[in-house]
Amino acid sequence: MEARILDERKAFIVNGKKDIGCNFDAPAIKCDSDSLSGTVSQRACVYCGARVVLNPITDAFHIVHGPIGCASYTWDIRGSLTSGSDLYRNSFSTDLSDKDIVFGGEKKLAAAIEEIIEKHNPKLIFVYSTCIVGVIGDDVDAVCKQAEKKHGTRVISVKSPGFSGNKSYGYKMACNAILELIEPHKNQAKIKGVNILGDFNLAGEMWIIKNYLREIGIPVVATITGDSSCETLIKAPAAQLNLVQCAGSMTYLAKKMEEEMGIPFVKISFFGVEDTSASLIRIAEAIGSGENIQKAEAFTEMERNKLNSFMDKYKKNLEGKKAAIYVGGGFKAISLIRQFREMGIETVVVGTQTGKKEDYEVMESLVGKDTVILDDANPAELEAFMKQKGADILVGGVKERPLAYKLGIAFCDHNHERKHALAGYEGVINFTEEINLSLNSPVWKMVRG
Ligand code: SF4
Repeated sequence: MEARILDERKAFIVNGKKDIGCNFDAPAIKCDSDSLSGTVSQRACVYCGARVVLNPITDAFHIVHGPIGCASYTWDIRGSLTSGSDLYRNSFSTDLSDKDIVFGGEKKLAAAIEEIIEKHNPKLIFVYSTCIVGVIGDDVDAVCKQAEKKHGTRVISVKSPGFSGNKSYGYKMACNAILELIEPHKNQAKIKGVNILGDFNLAGEMWIIKNYLREIGIPVVATITGDSSCETLIKAPAAQLNLVQCAGSMTYLAKKMEEEMGIPFVKISFFGVEDTSASLIRIAEAIGSGENIQKAEAFTEMERNKLNSFMDKYKKNLEGKKAAIYVGGGFKAISLIRQFREMGIETVVVGTQTGKKEDYEVMESLVGKDTVILDDANPAELEAFMKQKGADILVGGVKERPLAYKLGIAFCDHNHERKHALAGYEGVINFTEEINLSLNSPVWKMVRG
């Protein structure tokens, strides 16, 4: 099937075999820019990007300053877990309506902050600006500062009107909010340990990673933001090293912390056997002693051996199948390509919402010449390329699920909505079992006739 691509989109798509009618002479894939007007991007808005990053802070109050519709984006559609407070599962909105749009929403916002402080005495409140607030020009910063001064509670403005950029910009605004929280504590003495950036404790994945680090003797100072709290976040400046798991959302914060707090960072990934093992050894080498490195090597070897017979059992069901990947950030797409390779599955389509040039270069080096690589895809492109390349399964999030089902191909949810861990060695077992069950379900033959 011939994919119909808008001319302006061609620079965002590459295919080594040059069989999809795109601009192959372009020096590199175009990415990291705003979505093209007229296409239906799979990306969420700036506000949603900011909320993804900040929502897992378990004892924070999140006030969505805007109409009630924006506030529907709550914990209920995300899967981050907590070992402490569950305040973050609530959602608060100023519920702006016609009158507020005409006369301004600042008074309503000030009253909402006041009410939350009086009723709950919180340590930390985030106030998200939505589209309409950007349009009417409420001075959210001033309202937040006034409330902070009056009550001594941290009230941080998140500058996230949906139209002010793309989802990546929302990540940046969330990182700025975290910086605002931790900057007053930046002159702490360093202690041995790492911060984990960009893991959101979906289905308890942060706990899995922390257990591995405990096994190899590396202390965790703070987690940003999965299973974090105001109290743990402000300790982050004391760490020796930042581990960046979700590079798309957290590289900006890591760079700022390096500049302002002297904390270097490494990009790691805990998806798949290869990446999990390499990451643990890299962390031990970066800040550990000889003993930590030995422990990391022994631990990863033991876990790898445990999984060998498991993988062999499933490989015969999976070898020769074809996968399409469409996820939020580049780091996850890269890990998934490697993970599929470990399973004997070829990636024939791969794309991301917020990947960077260097991510796409790594992807290109990992896939075959026939593979389509695309940035900020729309449903029509994804459907066309999945059909053209004969994908047997799509890995994506909630917005990609119906695309796969409409085409009658298998689907695996690798986004924030899922309820089972896909990170670490435990995640390899869950992921392999899920891929096998979904790919080899008899339903697809029936659906496709
Ligand atoms: S695009 Fe604007 S109105 Fe829509 S959810 Fe995002 S902030 Fe709210």
